[in-house]
Amino acid sequence: MVEFQSKIEALRGYLDGGEKRVAIVTHTNPDGDAIGSALAWAETLRGWGHTVQCLVPNRFPSFLDWMEGIGEVIIAKEATEEAIEAITSAELIFVMDLNKIDRLDSMTEPLEASSAPRILIDHHLMPPDDFSLQFSYPDLCSTAFVTYKLIEAMCGTKAITRPMAENLYAGIMTDTGNFAFSFLTPDLMRAVAVLIEQGLDIPKVYTAVYNSYSASRVKLLGYSLGRKMEIIEEGKAAYMSLTEREMRRYNFQLGDSEGFVNYPLTIVGVKISAIFIETRKFIRVSLRSRGDEVDVNIFARRYFGGGGHKNAAGGKSFVSVEKTIDHFKSAVAEYFAELGIK
Ligand code: 5GP
Ligand code: MN
Repeated sequence: MVEFQSKIEALRGYLDGGEKRVAIVTHTNPDGDAIGSALAWAETLRGWGHTVQCLVPNRFPSFLDWMEGIGEVIIAKEATEEAIEAITSAELIFVMDLNKIDRLDSMTEPLEASSAPRILIDHHLMPPDDFSLQFSYPDLCSTAFVTYKLIEAMCGTKAITRPMAENLYAGIMTDTGNFAFSFLTPDLMRAVAVLIEQGLDIPKVYTAVYNSYSASRVKLLGYSLGRKMEIIEEGKAAYMSLTEREMRRYNFQLGDSEGFVNYPLTIVGVKISAIFIETRKFIRVSLRSRGDEVDVNIFARRYFGGGGHKNAAGGKSFVSVEKTIDHFKSAVAEYFAELGIK
């Protein structure tokens, strides 16, 4: 707590002294938590008179289109010059919801070239240590909740407007799987209560995010589970894969496979679930587990050059889908043997 307070003082130091040009950057394949946190933090900083620009490496899924302020986010892949300019001209840079700078893709280089102070706001395990100031809390469910705590400490929660409450809640809701995963503390629920006081409408946000799918997305889910799911290790591990061709058949749109990887975990006995999504350059690997036994952050780091959280992590594979699956199978066998899972 003492440490947190002294960091808050340091943060005040960075923000004092008149209007500043601020850039807020978040990770590739931005999710509800990344965007929700960035937008809410941007509004907070604007409230203190700063000029703020949010940036993401590539496009966000369309189920986040409703978020207030999302139209002003620079997508580096689609407006590279503008993105580089925003980073280069920033006097202060916030990096949110990531634990590896290389998750910023084309924005990594301009970020590293900038001499502006760099502040991390995050909840991943093992954050990088090259920041001027770090608010890294792996025991909190989401970056949105870390952001909430910063707002609370800096200026009190009365400063939270309805759109900010919705954006923060979207981050909390998506990163906890709608309050199904770990880190569901009384403190978090009290924060949600405050967000309601500040104008949050929970069913509205839930519907905007989860009841906004296309028919082809729901059919692709059916196909993935019905035809592509394989269960191995005597029912203790499951995986699915989707090739570009299969996704085209279902008119795949960005974000359509979001959440698929969670379904095999609803099968009794399954301890780890993976999905392999083919893209032009590599296979995107998503991993999920339940409870304390299987740590997919370790698994992703060791076998897929990635990382994340204990129960939700990801990485990349640069070989074919078939070879990726073979690699996964032997990785699971090795990891289970190490943990004594039979
Ligand atoms: P998802 O499976 O939803 O894409 O990612 C789940 C979590 O895994 C993310 O919140 C992120 O923390 C982590 N993650 C996903 N892909 C990567 C990756 O390539 N590298 C790292 N370090 N983490 C990743
Ligand atoms: Mn997050």
